Amino acid sequence: MNVIKAGYEILTPISEGGIEELQRIERAARVCYKSEDRITPDGESAKKMVAMLIKNGHEAMIEHSSLSVLFTCDRGVSHEIVRHRLASFGQESTRYVNYANDKFGNQISVIDIADGMSNDSKVSKLDSESTLSVYTEWLHAMKDAQSHYLKMIKLGATPQIARSVLPTSTKTNIIVTANYREWRHFFKLRTAEAAHPQMREIAIPLCRELKEKIPIVFDDIEC
Ligand SMILES: Cc1cc2nc3c(=O)[nH]c(=O)nc-3n(C[C@H](O)[C@H](O)[C@H](O)COP(=O)(O)OP(=O)(O)OC[C@H]3O[C@@H](n4cnc5c(N)ncnc54)[C@H](O)[C@@H]3O)c2cc1C
Repeated sequence: MNVIKAGYEILTPISEGGIEELQRIERAARVCYKSEDRITPDGESAKKMVAMLIKNGHEAMIEHSSLSVLFTCDRGVSHEIVRHRLASFGQESTRYVNYANDKFGNQISVIDIADGMSNDSKVSKLDSESTLSVYTEWLHAMKDAQSHYLKMIKLGATPQIARSVLPTSTKTNIIVTANYREWRHFFKLRTAEAAHPQMREIAIPLCRELKEKIPIVFDDIEC
C-alpha cells in the first residue's frame, strides 16, 4: 500500500508577473467603458482596473481569465471539490482503473492523514500516544481495505464492483478548471478555518502561490 502526501500542480502557464492574465480582464472591462485607449503595455493600468473591479464587486470581468489545477487528494476532499458547480472537472475513475494491475504496483494508494490530524483543532491536542493510536488504527483499516479489494479482484470482480470497499482516503487525481471569480469563491470557502483540514492542506498553499504569481486578483483573500 502506498501512503502519499496530498498536493497540486498548476497546469495553466502563468505569464511573467501575471500581467497577461490581468490584461485579459482589463481588455474585457474596458470594452464596457470604451476606455481601451487607457491601456498601458506595462500592465499598470490592468492592475488598477482589476483592483477597481474587485472593490466595486464588478466580478463578472474577472471571469475572463481562468486556471486549471491538478489536485492529488483523497476521495473525501475531491467530493467537496466537485460541489463547486461553476468549475469543470476530470477525475481518475475507480470504475475503470484496476489498482490490482502491475501498472499500479498491485496496490492501492491512500492520502496520508498525518497533516490533516495535526491541523484538526481537536486531534492536534491529543497526547502523542493517543495520536499514534489513532494513526495506527487508520493504517490498519487502509491495509484491510486493500486486502479485500485485491481479493475481490482475484475472485473475478471488476474494479467497478471491488471499489465498494475502497476507503475515503483513497488517492485520486482531479483536474479542476475554473475562472478566477470561481477560484476566489473556492479559496474564501476552502481556506477558512471551518473548511476540512485536508482541504485546507491543498487550498492554502495553492492560494498563497497564486497570490505570489498573479497580482491583485487574490490579494484580499486571507489564506
Ligand atoms: C465549511 C463547509 C461545510 C460544508 N458542509 C456541507 C454539508 O454538511 N453538506 C452539504 O451538502 N454541503 C456542505 N458544504 C458544501 C456547500 O454546501 C457547497 O455545496 C459548496 O461549498 C459549494 O459552494 P457554492 O454552492 O457557494 O459554490 P459553487 O457551486 O462553486 O457556486 C458559486 C456561486 O455561484 C452561485 N450559484 C451556483 N449555482 C447556483 C444556483 N443553482 N442558484 C443560484 N446561485 C448559484 C452562488 O452564488 C454560488 O455561491 C460545505 C461547505 C463548506 C465550505
